[in-house]
Amino acid sequence: MSGIPADALARRHDVALVDLDGVVYIGDHAVPGAVEALARARDVGQRHIFVTNNASRTPEEVAEHLTHLGVDAGPSDVLTSSQAGAALLAHRLPAGSPVLTVGGPGVGAAVRQVGLMPVSSIDAQGPPPVAVLQGFGRDVGWIHLMQAALTIQAGALWVATNLDRTLPVPGGRAPGNGMLVAAVAEAVGRGPDLVAGKPEGALLAVAVERTGARSPLVVGDRLDTDIEAAHRAGLPSLLVLTGVTDLGAARGAEAGQRATYVSQDLSGLLQPGRTA
Ligand SMILES: [Mg+2]
Repeated sequence: MSGIPADALARRHDVALVDLDGVVYIGDHAVPGAVEALARARDVGQRHIFVTNNASRTPEEVAEHLTHLGVDAGPSDVLTSSQAGAALLAHRLPAGSPVLTVGGPGVGAAVRQVGLMPVSSIDAQGPPPVAVLQGFGRDVGWIHLMQAALTIQAGALWVATNLDRTLPVPGGRAPGNGMLVAAVAEAVGRGPDLVAGKPEGALLAVAVERTGARSPLVVGDRLDTDIEAAHRAGLPSLLVLTGVTDLGAARGAEAGQRATYVSQDLSGLLQPGRTA
């Protein structure tokens, strides 16, 4: 009936961990065919959790964007690197611990969600922060980086949501969270203790834990984040060519960044899976 073969990836993998930018949307617009492919994969029983290194937006905001594009997704179907970073902290700190947050609204919200206390300034009265969660936010300025640096030098645990060096914006590339983390690292003389986002495995591990996936498949468009993270997490991957990677790069990838399957776009979920 569905015309989707019995050995299609959507039937063999109960959960797909789907990257967003370059896979489902590019900027504000849906990738052609992506919404339909996701709906058809869902129809044969595959669940989707959308995993993004972008830390600035809350899951509610991301879900709203997805819904607007026609993707059936609620906040619990979205996992950001802020949430994965907060989960790393929650595993290591007593409930209610004060955490200095640097970044957009998604960073503080994620810290609150796991039962820790987000603190946006060290000038505030109260106990000094025992950790820093640093993610992207377009309003991050020197004052925030300065406070992060002082808190880290006082001995706080430092978690970065992600180390993306650049951020695509209309007209070109802008400095990403990795560059803001690098500014703090220069000041304090060391890098973060932990990084949550891809290519580190924490984001994917939290996604697997949350969904209880038995046979997860990582779906993404970048070799050095999505596919490398899949390798580190020991998971199979589907590379789609709708984002920053072309077939030549996919074929030339080093072993640690080689995708299990490659497809032109998300319709690859409805196929048995082809290697590069
Ligand atoms: Mg992407």
